[in-house]
Amino acid sequence: MKYFLAIIGGGPAGYTAAEKASKAGKDVILFEQTALGGTCLNVGCIPTKSLLYGAKQYYNATHAQKYGVTAEHVAFDYAAMQKRKTIVVRKLVAGIKQRLNNEHCTLVSGAAKVLSRTDETVAIQCGAETYEAENLLICTGSTNFVPPIPGIQDNAAVWDSTDALAATELPASIIIVGGGVIGMEFATLYHELGVPVTVIEAMPTILPNLDQEVVSILLEKYRKAGITILTSTKVESLDGGKVSANGEVYEAEKVLVSVGRRANLQGLEALNDLELYRGGIVIDEFCKTNLPNVYACGDVTGKIMLAHVASRQAEVCIGRMLKQIPLQRIAYNAVPSVVYTNPEIASVGITEQQARDLNIETEVRTLPMTFSGRFMAENDGETGLCKMLVDRKNQSVLGVHMIGNPCSEFVAAASFAVRNGYTVAEMEQVIFPHPTVSEILHEIL
Ligand code: NAD
Repeated sequence: MKYFLAIIGGGPAGYTAAEKASKAGKDVILFEQTALGGTCLNVGCIPTKSLLYGAKQYYNATHAQKYGVTAEHVAFDYAAMQKRKTIVVRKLVAGIKQRLNNEHCTLVSGAAKVLSRTDETVAIQCGAETYEAENLLICTGSTNFVPPIPGIQDNAAVWDSTDALAATELPASIIIVGGGVIGMEFATLYHELGVPVTVIEAMPTILPNLDQEVVSILLEKYRKAGITILTSTKVESLDGGKVSANGEVYEAEKVLVSVGRRANLQGLEALNDLELYRGGIVIDEFCKTNLPNVYACGDVTGKIMLAHVASRQAEVCIGRMLKQIPLQRIAYNAVPSVVYTNPEIASVGITEQQARDLNIETEVRTLPMTFSGRFMAENDGETGLCKMLVDRKNQSVLGVHMIGNPCSEFVAAASFAVRNGYTVAEMEQVIFPHPTVSEILHEIL
């Protein structure tokens, strides 16, 4: 049998594409070598958020006095937190399997390898079998990048994020190399559970791609709370748990290395004329590669490594493959992002720095989150910040950057504004429920 579409990789890109194409009546085969759900569900977003939620419960219980609550003998069981995380993941993975089965998508468990390709047929090997399809969609994701630091290989003290998520015991202390999204989320987890944390970041600031006024609030809070955060500090070598950086030696039981991820191109060697850029597969606005019947979505494109970008790319890609009219596009200018620190950071659209780089004249509005009554009621001792960038020429909203709980839950409202180019006057007509922290998006106008 020749399938209409073969998909390699069952993460958010792969399973979204498989469901959409199968729903449209196409014969689809999906190959997954580990578990459906990919990095996001199995060793990324979901397990991290499950553990972070447990840590937050403990942290809130031990800091409840400011709300008039005294909790004595508060304790946590990290193995139980891990167990719960595994159950959450298992249920979600089973849900995806069920959805794909409902759509009669063929699922194959194993590592797929492209054998050959013509403009009519792609041949794929998995185990002892060979499969054929008219089109190929590559959703092979990314893997943790291991930087060439002396002493990092075969070092039992070194963890990547997957090792950290699998550990059933907390380390006595941890050094986190890389103060990006993964680094700061793990710093939050360990700190809230009482583990001494040192973050070592090579750039002059942590979370360098985010609005730096927002980041400075987190930095100040975390430093005051006792997290050691070293910036402009490049790790030179490792020896067990000893980390040499900028002429000093820092030591901890474990060293978590989180310095980015790289596209996973394994199994694609036969596609030797596939165009790559900086290690990722080059795609057009509909996720088509330079090869006529080959498409790619998600982290493997090296574009924006976020699960919600991957699934949106998959929707647009399948729409294009099925020639659905009107053709949809991806609003790369309105991709929201969240960092699950405490407080959370959420943003969408351009930053002040990007506006300067693009020569866009903007009006910058800032407001502490304390202008929201609900925020005041629930976030004792926090000020938070909401920042909006408005185009000076036409008053459209170009970017929103926030710190303060629970901004991750309403950044989507700002995404609507940026995606649709709403002006301040149009935003003013939107009614926000009271009392909610989301009202900050109205207060700031
Ligand atoms: P990242 O690119 O966000 O951060 C890596 C950091 O490591 C950078 O700040 C970089 O300057 C620093 N660095 C690089 N080399 C270094 C060195 N030798 N010494 C010290 N610091 C060094 O990468 P990440 O945190 O590994 O995350 C990987 C991807 O996963 C990202 O694309 C991220 O957006 C995504 N992710 C998203 C979420 C979320 O949406 N909440 C959560 C986790 C990961």
